[in-house]
Amino acid sequence: MRLLIVEDERRLALSLAKGLRAEGFAVDVVHDGLEGLHRASAEPYDLVVLDIMLPGMNGYRVCATLRAAGNDVPILMLTAKDGEYDEAEGLDTGADDYLTKPFSYVVLVARIRALLRRSNGAGGSPVLTVGSLRVETAARRVFREGEEVPLAAKEFAVLEHLAARAGEVVSKSEILAHVWDFAYDGDPNIVEVYVSALRRKLGADLIRTVRGAGYRLEAR
Ligand code: CA
Repeated sequence: MRLLIVEDERRLALSLAKGLRAEGFAVDVVHDGLEGLHRASAEPYDLVVLDIMLPGMNGYRVCATLRAAGNDVPILMLTAKDGEYDEAEGLDTGADDYLTKPFSYVVLVARIRALLRRSNGAGGSPVLTVGSLRVETAARRVFREGEEVPLAAKEFAVLEHLAARAGEVVSKSEILAHVWDFAYDGDPNIVEVYVSALRRKLGADLIRTVRGAGYRLEAR
């Protein structure tokens, strides 16, 4: 899952990014509304955390512009003080949820997970079941044939992405785009390293390599 944070308070933005990365999200941070708009238009984000008062372009306009362009990425808006901005106005511009500063980090993560579940189209279900594999996306737990398999955060993120699209071929670059952030400029073959680790932990039969195309998670 790849998130974009558009927030000009640098310390807040960086501490949110740090916390969310520790939860296994790939996180990009920009501090300017216009740059946020460009990023959100160009990259396949799973969710955008969008401050309202921003240099360049305010959050309402960023949100409205994305929606007018048909971009339906889930947007969680942040505002400075209770009552300073109209919640209804934020939702009118097409935001999916709204959080007032100062907010608790735990609440932010819960809202982000809830929005991601809603947008996953899994009927709001936080559990993905593929054959004998069970991925509890909210609890961040994985079971194979009823046995829990502990995974590192990035391993979980790769598996979650494959499980959400079970039966389909997912390319290495799609996995990279959703699981790693734009600061990552290393070898795209890093994906192979994580797929190997998943095969080692979950069994070799689960993730098929489709030559020249990517990977497919199969029901086993
Ligand atoms: Ca601000």
